[in-house]
Amino acid sequence: MKLEGIHHITAITGDAQKNVDFYAGVLGLRLVKKTVNQDDPTVYHLFFADENGDAGSDLTFFEYPGAPPGRTGDGMIWGIRWRLGNPDALDFWAERLKEHGTETELTDGVLRFTDPEGLGHALKVVDTSDEPLVANHPEIPEDLALQGFDGAIACSSNSEASRPLLEEALGFQPLPGEAGQSGWECRGDSRGGLWGYSEPPPERGLQGAGSVHHIAWASQIEDHEAWRERVIQAGARPTPVIDRFYFRSIYFREPSGVLFEIATLGPGFTVDEPLESLGEKLSLPPDYEHLREQVEPVLRPITNPRVAA
Ligand code: ZN
Repeated sequence: MKLEGIHHITAITGDAQKNVDFYAGVLGLRLVKKTVNQDDPTVYHLFFADENGDAGSDLTFFEYPGAPPGRTGDGMIWGIRWRLGNPDALDFWAERLKEHGTETELTDGVLRFTDPEGLGHALKVVDTSDEPLVANHPEIPEDLALQGFDGAIACSSNSEASRPLLEEALGFQPLPGEAGQSGWECRGDSRGGLWGYSEPPPERGLQGAGSVHHIAWASQIEDHEAWRERVIQAGARPTPVIDRFYFRSIYFREPSGVLFEIATLGPGFTVDEPLESLGEKLSLPPDYEHLREQVEPVLRPITNPRVAA
């Protein structure tokens, strides 16, 4: 039984339109699902991914309109790294981000920037046999596009406390770390993703716009219940299995305080709309369909730059 790397990462935005403009318009991801937060159906839940809506490339946002900016602290994810497949891509992205008013910094072959709300991203050319997970965008040549997640990093004041759960229960493999950082690889049969911690800043963290809410690791559908048992044996307290309609999930805090989810690879985003028109209209899972008349007028309409193009 192996986890197949990162399934998705979920963050918070205070402005859905600005969020779509940046992730679909500038970064060139595909908005593959426009739905509502199942725990609060008056707010958007937006899913960006590759062309097919594959796990491993799926960055999602809850929109809390006007949410004040968050601040990274202990037990919070502060950085997301994406794969590039071509050394020319670093120059391309430095140029493209600059054109769109985003400052970048290139250090040791890693291009760093933040989204308009302060969420940290990095791009790195990675040599891997994992399938490149690419979305189509008219201004971004396919060989220069983002290819899915490479990894994520959180703050921890005691990352050693997380080691037993990560290694013994979840099967993460330790990597040689840089000073002040610890790192692991979560690799399955088809895909892998990196996970690490750095020292936290002195201030307490605050959830808000531009902060990451949780990270989900990918499970085969048939292993999902067994992962829950393993997490319990490791001393964590997972939720029951929750049906998120596009996948099934369990959630628990790992010992450094980061909210982890284990989500199934399937059924996926084509369960309620065809691949060609993913994300174009508001999708409501069957249990929420009766709320459409109340929910739809409350949500501010979004213009997807890709559809507009
Ligand atoms: Zn999630």
